[in-house]
Amino acid sequence: MNDSPKLFIGGEYVSATSTEIVPLINPATEEQIGSVVDSNGADVARAVGAARDALPEWRDTSPERRGAYLTALAEVFDGRRDEMAALVSRHNGTVLSRSRQSNAARPIDIYRYHGELSRSFPWETVVDTGRGSSAIVRREPVGVVGAIVPWNAPQTLAAQKLAPALLAGCTVVWKPSPETSLDAFLLSEMLNEVGVPPGVVNIVTGGRGTGEHVVAHPGVDKVSFTGSTAAGRAVAATCGQMLKPVTAELGGKSAAVLLEDAPLDLFARSLIGTCLPNTGQVCYSCTRILAPRKRLEEVLDVVVETLSKATVGDPMDPRSDFGPLASAAQRTRVEGYIQSGLQDGARLLLGGGRPAQLPVGYYVEPTVFTDVTPDMLIFREEVFGPLLVVVPYDDDDDAVRLANDSSYGLGGSVFSRDLDRAKDIARRMETGSVLINGEQRSERIPLYGYKDSGVGGDASLGAYLNIKSISGP
Ligand code: NAD
Repeated sequence: MNDSPKLFIGGEYVSATSTEIVPLINPATEEQIGSVVDSNGADVARAVGAARDALPEWRDTSPERRGAYLTALAEVFDGRRDEMAALVSRHNGTVLSRSRQSNAARPIDIYRYHGELSRSFPWETVVDTGRGSSAIVRREPVGVVGAIVPWNAPQTLAAQKLAPALLAGCTVVWKPSPETSLDAFLLSEMLNEVGVPPGVVNIVTGGRGTGEHVVAHPGVDKVSFTGSTAAGRAVAATCGQMLKPVTAELGGKSAAVLLEDAPLDLFARSLIGTCLPNTGQVCYSCTRILAPRKRLEEVLDVVVETLSKATVGDPMDPRSDFGPLASAAQRTRVEGYIQSGLQDGARLLLGGGRPAQLPVGYYVEPTVFTDVTPDMLIFREEVFGPLLVVVPYDDDDDAVRLANDSSYGLGGSVFSRDLDRAKDIARRMETGSVLINGEQRSERIPLYGYKDSGVGGDASLGAYLNIKSISGP
């Protein structure tokens, strides 16, 4: 493990050139749990060099063999799943029950799925040219990938990049977020254990500056970025200048639309998972609840009652529904949005402060506002914390209009007993994914960002492949 801060380059733990150190703080205890290097340009260049050196052999390894490494990785990960889930929880405050899913079960599924995909994917196809001849269409790796990952579900988000990139035949320079870095080193141990060749995956730790070096390095052929819309714009601008392909999966401000016949008991059961997963720190959290005006009071009662019964506390305690926010900065940001809601005249129905029984840790109470208008910041901006707004609508058209009244378009949900009607509303929502009646995600369906929620299209295997055609007489 990374006791004295090191980087993972060329299959080894190496000292950095940078002497800048970032302390890692457990957000539940405010105690330091480790530290990482804030890597500089020379450190990034060394990692890119290792990835470039490893590329020819990895690219020429058969897809089935590359897939076999991913299957083996899934197996080794499975054996250390509890260790990984707990490590991430200590890092970012995700409640352990959720971390077991988002930082263990899901990434294991993603590696396993890509292992299987290696055997069925059409790497090379023959097409009829329509001129009496045929052409070969090949899918080839884009090269070295710069993978930049946020802290909120670091292992799922890393797996969503590493699995398709490695299967495609790319090598990777992975920059985790400073808030969650030790889990990346745990995965590096697993990569070594299954024998992934040195340099195929390299880890450079650090913050924004390190990320900028990764994006701008000419030896990085493609950038796969997940993070905030503001950072995504900067990343995409650099990539645009360099004509470097980029997939960016960004922020969201998604809506949960409750139709008049919405089963409120079901909604209550899935409220936290749909609207405030991971203490609201998930990109697709449906933090705008749209309620039929006739049922507004009923919906407010359900939301307030459900959240007041929820437990805020130690993320390692299986009874906790909400943990702390991931960092002091994140708590300050969320508290700023609570103040803006109050100043704009929204009505606070629940929460709004720090839980009195938790004086240590970056906790904020689950907070609910109503009397919110679409011009308010708490309706428009991604808070990334436990803050919900409940807004009434008049009819289906009004519900769709409000749901689409956002610069974002990432997630969404519709609750109704009439599944066909719910799907019709979902078809009208300008967003990348809509869940009907609650949280059911899968590695096999795309997660797309409309509008300010992303650029570069589907971020799965195709995003790591170039397409070549070979035709002749
Ligand atoms: P962030 O944008 O601050 O940082 C994300 C990552 O990018 C970190 O590793 C950071 O060090 C790096 N970074 C920041 N600025 C950079 C720059 N200019 N160039 C290169 N790298 C840079 O985001 P965060 O606070 O870590 O994560 C929360 C955000 O991520 C939220 O907006 C959330 O919605 C979004 N997110 C999106 C998805 C998705 O799939 N669409 C998934 C998870 C999180």
